[in-house]
Amino acid sequence: MGSRLEALSHGVLDRLDLVAVGDVRRDILRRIASGVREVLGCEVKVLEKRGLPQESCHASRGQYSASEILDAVKPAPRKGARLRTLAVVDEDLFSAGLNFVFGEADLSGPAAVVSLTRLANEFYGLPPDEPLLVERAVKEAVHEVGHMLGLTHCRDRGCVMYFSNSLVDTDRKADTCCEKCRRHLSQGRDR
Ligand SMILES: [Zn+2]
Ligand SMILES: [Zn+2]
Repeated sequence: MGSRLEALSHGVLDRLDLVAVGDVRRDILRRIASGVREVLGCEVKVLEKRGLPQESCHASRGQYSASEILDAVKPAPRKGARLRTLAVVDEDLFSAGLNFVFGEADLSGPAAVVSLTRLANEFYGLPPDEPLLVERAVKEAVHEVGHMLGLTHCRDRGCVMYFSNSLVDTDRKADTCCEKCRRHLSQGRDR
């Protein structure tokens, strides 16, 4: 049985690779990496930045396709490896049937993506607030990691796995998951 203080990643994730896709400020990426490391308790490695895949750009809507970015960053399958990849972009993302998304992941998949664009105050005409931007990005990053580890959306508004429809939801939720989601994670753990 896991204790309350056990790291979220314990037994389910050994390393998370963070990769900037397109232009993302390196200092912001580092701060997101250290925030995510603190919440998950596993190794978080910042990989070399990559270019935005051409096919993900949908110029007519001024947005990038989250799933096409996902396809581009998906690592080759590594048997038995408890590794995941999280792409960070600073472009507005959309997904099938949704005007925009803060991020996307395949359930239990190897890769996920988060966008900083709509997490920044500037997007809403408000003064920049970098600590708040990093805090929001850490929450959305941990949310996508939760999906990669098999967690679905949670009804608890304070849980990181609550679906953020807007920044109000992101700002209200914690950067970690509720007891129920924690129990679910621990069921997937190696015995
Ligand atoms: Zn989600
Ligand atoms: Zn939960």
